[in-house]
Amino acid sequence: MIGPPGSGKGTQAQRLANRFRIEHISSGELFRQAAGQGSALGKAAERYMKKGLLVPDKLAAGMVLERLQGLASKEGFVLDGFPRNLSQVHALHAALDALDKQIQHVFVLELPEKDVLLRITGRRLDPETGNIYHLKFNPPPAEISDRLIQRTDDSEATVRRRLQDYHTETLPMISFYAKMGIVHCISALGSPDEVDNRLRAYLE
Ligand code: AMP
Repeated sequence: MIGPPGSGKGTQAQRLANRFRIEHISSGELFRQAAGQGSALGKAAERYMKKGLLVPDKLAAGMVLERLQGLASKEGFVLDGFPRNLSQVHALHAALDALDKQIQHVFVLELPEKDVLLRITGRRLDPETGNIYHLKFNPPPAEISDRLIQRTDDSEATVRRRLQDYHTETLPMISFYAKMGIVHCISALGSPDEVDNRLRAYLE
C-alpha cells in the first residue's frame, strides 16, 4: 500500500488485512512500538521520525524484514509504509525470493496536497489500540478522547518534508512495479468507506 501521508494507507491496509485474514505489517507502527518499548533500535528510529525524516534504509529494512521472516510459510500480508524507496524495494525482493513469497498487488492511494494537510492536522492516534481517528472526518468515541495523542511527525512543517520525500523517494518505486503490471491507482478522496469500496470493487 503506497500513498502520501494522510492518504489513509494505514486504515485501508488494516481493512484489507482483516477482510482477507492476513497480516498487516506497518513499518511506521513497528517503529513507534519499538520506540515505545525503549529498545535501542526503536530509539534510533524515533530520532528520525520526530523530524519527519526517513529512518535509514538499513534500520528500516532490518526491522520490517525480520517481521516478514516471522510469518508462516503460506501466510499472506499487507505491507504498509515499506518499501519507501528503491533501495528498500531491492532489500524487500531479495528477502521475498528467499522466502518464496511474492507481491501480487500494489495499491497507490492518490490524494492532492491540500487534502493531505487538512487530514494530517486533525489526525489523532489511540496509543492503546493503535486506531487512528480524525477530529472532523472520523471522530473518536467520546470516552477515549482524553487519551488520544497527535503524532509528533504530524505538524505542518514536518508533513511538508514528508511529502517532499514521498515525491523524490517513493514515487519512483511505482515505475518498478508498473513494469510488473501490478500497480492500481485508487483515489483516496472521500470517507474511509468510499475508498474501501473502490479497493473492493477493484479486487472483486
Ligand atoms: P508512517 O506511519 O508510514 O507515516 O511512517 C511514519 C514515519 O516512520 C515516517 O515519517 C518515517 O520517519 C518512518 N518510516 C516509516 N516507514 C519507513 C520506511 N519504510 N523507511 C524509512 N522510514 C520509514
